Parts: sequence; C-alpha cells; structure tokens
Amino acid sequence: MIATLDIKVTKAATSKLPGIDVENLPFGKTFTDHMLTADYADGEWRNFEILPFGDIAFSPAISALHYGQTFFEGLKAYRHADGKITVFRPDQNAARFNKSAERMCMPTLPEELFIESILALVKVDKDWVPSKENYTLYIRPFMFATDPFLGVAPSTTYKFMVLLGPTGPYFSKNLKVKIETGYTRAAEGGYGYAKAAGNYGGSLLPAKRAAEQGFDQLIWTDAQNHEYIEEMGAANAMFVIDGKLITPLTRDTILDGVTRKSIIELAKDFGMQVEERRVSVEEVLKAIDSGTCTDAFGAGTAATIAQVAEIVHEDKTYTLPNPAESVFANKMRKALDDIKFGRVEDLKGWNY
Ligand code: PMP
Repeated sequence: MIATLDIKVTKAATSKLPGIDVENLPFGKTFTDHMLTADYADGEWRNFEILPFGDIAFSPAISALHYGQTFFEGLKAYRHADGKITVFRPDQNAARFNKSAERMCMPTLPEELFIESILALVKVDKDWVPSKENYTLYIRPFMFATDPFLGVAPSTTYKFMVLLGPTGPYFSKNLKVKIETGYTRAAEGGYGYAKAAGNYGGSLLPAKRAAEQGFDQLIWTDAQNHEYIEEMGAANAMFVIDGKLITPLTRDTILDGVTRKSIIELAKDFGMQVEERRVSVEEVLKAIDSGTCTDAFGAGTAATIAQVAEIVHEDKTYTLPNPAESVFANKMRKALDDIKFGRVEDLKGWNY
C-alpha cells in the first residue's frame, strides 16, 4: 500500500440529496453531489481532486471523442444494517481497469490509487448510499484521452474520473433472450475483454433490433461460426447443466466479470462442480430440451443474477424451468447479497 493519496476536496455548497428519493430512481440518471478527477501528463498521475459534480470543459478535438481511447469500470457500494458502507471487490475492478488501459494503449493507474480514489469519494457522499434492500450506490470510474490532436495516435494526456449514483434492482423480470447469429460483439485478437466504450457502442444496434423483436437481451456467440456462447448482453453467461455450473472460459473476446468469478468461487465452496470451457449453443439447447439445464442466467454487477425464462434460436423457443423456483440462482443470489450487505461474516475479504 502506498501512503495515503493526497486528494484535494472541495465540497458542494448544498446537497441535492434532500430533494431526491434515492429509492425511486432509474439507473444512471442521478448523480451524487461530488465526483473525482485526476490528470495524467508527463508520465504520471496527479491532481487527484474531489469536487462538486458538474459539467467539465475540454477541446472538441480530444482523441477520446474521435478514436475511442476511453474505457470504464462498474462496481457498487452497499450499506449494511449497522450503517457500515462497503465496496465489493474493488481490487478486481482495479486489475481489470488496467487490463483495459493496456489494451487501449492508455496509461495504467496503480491499483491502490484506483481503490483509494473510490473509497474517498464514497466516503464524501456516504449519505447517498441507499438503505433499502437491493438498493446500492453504483460507482463509475473511467478514463479518457485528452490530447487535442486529430492524428490517429495514442494520446499523451488523460483524465481519470469517478462518478457515483444511487440505483435499485436493475432487471426486474425474467429474461426472454435471443441467441445472436448475425452480429458479433468481439472477435479473437480484438478487445472484447476490455471495458472499452466502443464495445458498448457497437452493441447498441443489435440490442435495439433484438428489443424490436420482443427480446429483453441477446446472447452473443463467437465471431467465426456463431456456434459457441460468449456473453449475455453486458453480463457473463452461466448455466447449470446436470447439476454442474458451466460457463464460457474467459478469453480475449469475453469480459472477465467480477460477479462471474465470485459465483464460481462460491459454487466450488458449495461443493459444486464448475466447468469453465467453451460452451456450444447446441449443448445448451439440447440440455434445455432434455430438462437437464435447470438454470441460465447473466452474471454482472448491475443485476447480480439475471435469470432467463426463454431462449430463442433461429425462431425456435426453448423454455427454461420456472426461474422463481430455481434452487441454484436463488441460493447464489442470497449468498452474494449476504456478503455484500454484511449479513454474514466476510470470510473472503471481499468487502472494502
Ligand atoms: N460482460 C460485459 C460485456 C459487461 O459489460 C459486464 C459488466 N461489467 C459483465 C460481463 C459482468 O462483469 P461484472 O460482474 O464485473 O460486472
């Protein structure tokens, strides 16, 4: 650990909180009173500052806007019954933040600076962490290139920022998903494993088309033949087949999710067999047909576990057992929430 980061704090003159019902907000539209910023120049990070949330000015020529040198992270803070507030596994997000940075040819941020920045900002806006069950404070760290230069080249200056916003349960219903066999999210050798903005920009049209066809979400498949399952929307795809937890092995096309990783570890603790490997579409559909697939879900920070009710593949519908009765998903969701909300002892040291 480095010495405590010297963060300049300028408090907002008044808080917006009294006028806001933090337990009745759509995701991502309301931000807390403060934000954190830091600058990278001359090979080092400096000017760590917490200041009132607000617009920032930059040149319209910054390379983030033109060439997409920008990426983000997403994690959450949880309020325990005793009032204590913790952030779930920020060390994992710090490591992934730097994987994204390297792939996008951007500077890394020492993990302890990432974590300390987040904890300091959450502390300043601690009153914004909701106390209602399943409500949390979403944390959005991100970095973008700030050289005002239209040459296609890595920027030499960057900004790191953190925003916070209270949020409720993300997906409210069980999902009807489509197996995508036309569009591709990420190809081998690309940057699907990075939380780069472009990965999300490129997913919007396929997601919109799927929504127009009545789907809540789509399952991404491999770029080559669309035969293997990769991810589910902006979450990792997981299945329980024959009592085993089965999930695509992370690779350069797949984001290495913190929720996925945590579920795998807890499932092994439950004594369950876990298989991380390539998972074919055919295998999953056959298992649903034969009744051996008991669970299909997306795993991610936003929803924790978003259960699937129906999968459609080339116009054929495959119906999963009633998600409300799933033993695995409900047990796992509870196990994760119990740790995050401090209802059980944090034996793994996941809460910061
Ligand atoms: N895959 C993608 C593409 C995502 O955007 C996310 C959300 N960050 C995930 C998986 C799940 O990752 P995590 O559990 O760390 O939120």
